[in-house]
Amino acid sequence: MARMPSLFVSHGAPNLILYDSPATRFLSEYGARIEKPSAILSVSAHFETDRPAVVTDPSPETVYDFGGFEPELYTLKYPAPGDPALAERVAGLLADAGNGPAIVPRRGYDHGTWVPLMLLYPDADVPVAQLSVQPGLSAAHHYRLGQALAGLRDEGVLIVGSGSFTHNLQEAFQRLRRGAVEADRPDWVESFVEWMVGHIEAGDVDDLLAYREKAPFAVENHPTDEHLMPLYVALGAAGDDARGARVHDSHQYGVLQLDAFAFQ
Ligand code: ZN
Repeated sequence: MARMPSLFVSHGAPNLILYDSPATRFLSEYGARIEKPSAILSVSAHFETDRPAVVTDPSPETVYDFGGFEPELYTLKYPAPGDPALAERVAGLLADAGNGPAIVPRRGYDHGTWVPLMLLYPDADVPVAQLSVQPGLSAAHHYRLGQALAGLRDEGVLIVGSGSFTHNLQEAFQRLRRGAVEADRPDWVESFVEWMVGHIEAGDVDDLLAYREKAPFAVENHPTDEHLMPLYVALGAAGDDARGARVHDSHQYGVLQLDAFAFQ
């Protein structure tokens, strides 16, 4: 079995899945562009815990962890089975690395997991385990989680970090209210994105781990950075000399960057 990449995808607003867009087209096509995984480990920004947690639920429900969206969004279901064996394996690898996780026996798929996976693997025939992010902990912590899991890629496991490449929701809502939906990207988004993409493509891990101090307008683009932490898990899982390829580039409202990266 070929070594799987690790991925970072931006899941956008929950109703992303209802409308055709460059981001939905990318996700719909990308699953067929890579070898089909034997299992998926999803690391969603909407699964937040104080310390790492993995889900052993054999049949997770689809969770509508949002309000105020189109009624049809609440009828969608992603019936992919859970993967308790993979979850136990993840727990073991993290424990070996000194980061033993909590085991969560029942937890459904939040929209950070089911929205992108429904587009990537619409047949829902790949089992999915879930690992949480820790909003109070650093990029380096999340990078180490990924490092501990790198070997899973040789076993056909696709590690999918799901967040948002930029995520200033307050600014996005203001633009939405002003009707500036199609607005161009402001400089403070553009320069952050350029810096991050350059360092990801160069494999410059030290600078990436210090992104909050070094990247221009880091705090403006991620007032809280839980939506960027899944990227660091994917980066860590890529191993030492990893390079990231930007496999998608689009935005919503000028300020929510929906980029995706594949790490090899
Ligand atoms: Zn989100």
